[in-house]
Amino acid sequence: MRDLAANPQLCSVNTATLGFQAPIRDVIDAVARAGFGGIAPWRREVEGGHVKAIARHIRDAGLSVSGYCRSTYIPATTTAEFDANVSANKRAIADAATLGAACFVMVVGGLPKGSKDIEAARAQVAEASALLVEHGRSLGVRIGLEPLHPVYAADRSCLTLLSEALTICEAIEGKVDDPWLGTVIDVYHLWWDPNLRLDIEWAGKTKRIFGFHVCDWLVPTNDVLNDRGMMGDGVIDVPMIRGLVESGGYSGPVEVEIFSAENWWKKPMSETLQVCRERLASAT
Ligand code: ZN
Repeated sequence: MRDLAANPQLCSVNTATLGFQAPIRDVIDAVARAGFGGIAPWRREVEGGHVKAIARHIRDAGLSVSGYCRSTYIPATTTAEFDANVSANKRAIADAATLGAACFVMVVGGLPKGSKDIEAARAQVAEASALLVEHGRSLGVRIGLEPLHPVYAADRSCLTLLSEALTICEAIEGKVDDPWLGTVIDVYHLWWDPNLRLDIEWAGKTKRIFGFHVCDWLVPTNDVLNDRGMMGDGVIDVPMIRGLVESGGYSGPVEVEIFSAENWWKKPMSETLQVCRERLASAT
């Protein structure tokens, strides 16, 4: 496995980890100062700002962009709403191109309001993915489908398995040497999956690992959305999963992504970043 302590350029921070407590320029500077090599910003920090200036600031700070978070949810009750969701994502993908993001992260959405038809929601996700990968390819942006833990199937992601994401990728792109549609593997969402080993092998063989997110699953978890743990504080064998991902040929950054309203978001950014660096070295 790669030595993350000796190679800080392989370590990236998803800005959600820092709780959005400062303007993006200050966050970029803090991440660079802490010695990371990459950053993954969110649309809420970028949209409405001067995207080119933010991109330049990130570059000047010596950081790469490991991913751009995240898609507008896809499933809709009307065609007009579906089209609007696809268009919003196309605009975000253009910003991902400006930022030089390694991929645009797709959190696909759950059931549209009032619906009980999860199969229809999944079909819409596949249809939108086909449209968005074409758009991404034209702008040089790879599209990464991120399966979420099934606890979010209703409201955040009807896509819950890595195998499901890979099946969508292959249905749309077929078997290609240089895919534009792939997956983002997040240990929080996939650690429990009995097929994880096989599916990561599949993703690796088909070069469809576009991102790798780490944190930990706390026991007990007080809030499945905003009580994620720092690597080493929970029950996920993060080094084991990183081993699988890297054996699969993934050579991109390891991105820390921790939603933690009651703990890490309350700490100063510099403190959280320092602990992230330590745990990337010792527990990832
Ligand atoms: Zn993630």
